[in-house]
Amino acid sequence: MFATTRSFLLLEILRGLWLTLKYMFKRKVTINYPYEKGPLSPRFRGEHALRRYANGEERCIACKLCEAICPAQAITIEAEVRADGSRRTTRYDIDMVKCIYCGFCQEACPVDAIVEGPNFEFAVETREELLYNKDKLLSNGDRWEAAIAANLRADAEYR
Ligand code: SF4
Ligand code: SF4
Repeated sequence: MFATTRSFLLLEILRGLWLTLKYMFKRKVTINYPYEKGPLSPRFRGEHALRRYANGEERCIACKLCEAICPAQAITIEAEVRADGSRRTTRYDIDMVKCIYCGFCQEACPVDAIVEGPNFEFAVETREELLYNKDKLLSNGDRWEAAIAANLRADAEYR
C-alpha cells in the first residue's frame, strides 16, 4: 500500500490504538512503589548490619577477617580485650561510598556478625551520612534481625 494511502486511512494510529487496547486487559507488570515492593532473594546484598546474639551480646569477635578481605578497603576496625577476656571491637566503620556490595565481608565472617541485610532504601543527601560507625551498624542489626535471620536460614543449605 502506498504511504499516502496509509496516511489517509490513519493505519499507523489505528494499529497503535489496537496495541494500547490489547494491553489494557493484560496483567499489570508495574508495581506501585513504594507502597508495593517486588520479591527479594534471601541472597540480596543490601545495607550492612552488625548482629547480636539473642542475649544481646555482640556477635563480632574482632577477628578482622572482613577488614582484610574487603577489596574496597571500606572497613576499619579497632579492637581491645575486655575485662572478661573476650575480644571486641571498639571501632567498626564502613565507608558505604567505597563499598561495592560484593558480600565478601559476610562470607568471611566466622560468626555471621557482619551481614548485608535486605534493606535497599537507605539513600541519603550527603556523603557523611554514608560513613557508618559501629552504633549505626548495630542499630541496623537490631532493626533487621528477624528478616536477616530468616534469610540466613533460607540460604543455609547452600552455604
Ligand atoms: S560488601 Fe564487599 S566492598 Fe562492601 S564492605 Fe563488604 S567486603 Fe567490602
Ligand atoms: S564482623 Fe565477623 S569477620 Fe569482621 S571482625 Fe567481626 S567477627 Fe571478624
